[in-house]
Amino acid sequence: MSAPIAPRTPLAVTGACPACRRTVEWKVAAGGAPILCPACGAETLLTLGDSFFERGALDRCAVCAERHLYRQKDFNQTTGCVIMAIGAITGLILAGLYGALWLWAVLLLTAALDAVLYRLVPEVVICYRCKAHFRGSADLRAVPPFDLQLADAIEGRMGGGMTMPPESPPRR
Ligand SMILES: [Zn+2]
Ligand SMILES: [Zn+2]
Repeated sequence: MSAPIAPRTPLAVTGACPACRRTVEWKVAAGGAPILCPACGAETLLTLGDSFFERGALDRCAVCAERHLYRQKDFNQTTGCVIMAIGAITGLILAGLYGALWLWAVLLLTAALDAVLYRLVPEVVICYRCKAHFRGSADLRAVPPFDLQLADAIEGRMGGGMTMPPESPPRR
């Protein structure tokens, strides 16, 4: 009786288009309609289970149907480094003007700001296999955090199985 409810916000899927291999972003609203690749126009049928349309939960990768996914903070490492660098420079300037205590004060403040930002940023779900990213409406609570052993096992499975092009970026 329960009709699929539309997710509150469209799920944004970032992954490699199976046709042109370019990294593209698909927006998934309700229903399982084929999604067109914005780069080459190829149709991709994203596989999203009932749990997604009922609860917004992801139980598999919509691009490659891999069952193992992990979530992590959608935090840009570069942004974090830039914030720390600006804090350090500001601290050094203030320390030169008003005394060394200012350096510590500013560094502490910067670290606190960094921590707050880290808490505020949303989480992103990533597929172990094809590295597709999922952002938006998905209910991420059921997705476990990154597991290095599992990642190694899946990479080993990929290496032993089908021949994958060695173009996937060496993410850490
Ligand atoms: Zn494409
Ligand atoms: Zn995948």
